[in-house]
Amino acid sequence: MKILVAEDEEMSRRLLAANLSKEGYEVVLATNGREAWDLLQSPEAPQIAILDWTMPEMDGLDVCVELRKKGGEPYIYVILLSAKSKKEEVVEGLRAGADDYLVKPCHPLELSARVRSGVRILDLQKALIEAREALRIQATQDALTGFWNRRTIFEILDREFQRAKRETSSIGVVLGDLDHFKHINDTHGHQVGDLVLQESSRRMRSVMRQYDAVGRYGGEEFLMVLPGCDWQKAVNQAERVRTSLESKPIVLPDGQPITVTMSLGVSASDLHTYDSVDALVHASDQALYRAKNSGRNRTDLTIPWTVQKNVSRLIHSAKLRSG
Ligand code: GH3
Ligand code: MG
Ligand code: MG
Ligand code: MG
Repeated sequence: MKILVAEDEEMSRRLLAANLSKEGYEVVLATNGREAWDLLQSPEAPQIAILDWTMPEMDGLDVCVELRKKGGEPYIYVILLSAKSKKEEVVEGLRAGADDYLVKPCHPLELSARVRSGVRILDLQKALIEAREALRIQATQDALTGFWNRRTIFEILDREFQRAKRETSSIGVVLGDLDHFKHINDTHGHQVGDLVLQESSRRMRSVMRQYDAVGRYGGEEFLMVLPGCDWQKAVNQAERVRTSLESKPIVLPDGQPITVTMSLGVSASDLHTYDSVDALVHASDQALYRAKNSGRNRTDLTIPWTVQKNVSRLIHSAKLRSG
C-alpha cells in the first residue's frame, strides 16, 4: 500500500518514511502542501496521506479541506500530523475532514497502529464498493446475455428519446425475436437453448455500434435503441444483426451445426412524430409481427401512411428485405 508523507521538517519526514518503509509500505514524499495536493490528484495517488498541519505553500489542513470538497472515489484516508495538541486544535483538524490525528513527535508503534486502522477502513470501503458494483450489475443487466435488462433498456430508451427530441435528431428502435426458438429448446434441451441465446447475443453485440444499446426485452426477444439513426440507418443496422446470425451456423456442444435466424421490426422517429416511447416500440412490434408473418428471417419497417409511398419506393430500390 502506498502512503503519502507530506512534512516540511526534514528529520521528522525521514523518520516517518523510515518507520513506514520498515512496515512494508511504499512511501511517497512531499515537502509542502502544494506538492502533496498535486500528488493526491494523480491517477496513481496514494490512498493514505499523512499531512503535516503547518507547511509552506498550502498547509495540511487546507489540503484536507480541498480533498473533502472534491469528494469522489477512491477515498483518501487522511492522518493529520501536528505539534498542536490542544483539544480545540485536534477537533478543528477532524472537522476539516481528517480521519485521524497524530501529535508530534509520534511513537513508531502509535504511527503503525494508526496507519493500520486506516488500511482497515480502506479495505472495508473497497469491499463495499465491490458489493455495490455487483448489485448495480445485477440490477441492470441480464445474467444470461449480459445485455441490459428490460427495465434498464426502457430507461435508456426514455433518455435517448428525450435527447433526440431536444436535439431534433432521430432515434431508431428495433425489436428482434429469434425464429422458432421453441423448436431449438424442444429438440436440443433448454440448456443448449441457453447456449444458443448466449452465442446469438455475442454475435449481435459484435455488430452493434458503440453508442447503441441492447436489452433483453423478453425470453428470446431483444430491444435495440439506436440514437441518431433515421429509418434507413436503423434498417441497415437491423440487417447487420440479422445477417450476423444467419451467415454462420452455431455449433452445438455435440458438434451439430444449426442455423439460427431472427426476425426484426424497425421504427424510427424521423418517419413520424411519435409522441411517446410506447408508440415507437409499438410501431417496431407491428413491424416484427409482419416480419414473422411474411416468412421470418427478415427485417420489416413500420411506415406511417403519410410517408408510405415515398419510403416503400426507397426500401424496394435498396433491396432491404431479405425475403
Ligand atoms: P417465433 O418464430 O414465432 O418467434 O417462434 P418461437 O418458437 O421463437 O416463439 P415462442 O414465443 O413460441 O417461443 C419462445 C421460446 O423461447 C419459448 C421459451 O421456452 C423460450 N425461451 C424463453 N426464454 C428462454 C431462456 O432464457 N432460455 C431458453 N433456453 N429458452 C427460452
Ligand atoms: Mg511543518
Ligand atoms: Mg421467437
Ligand atoms: Mg418471442
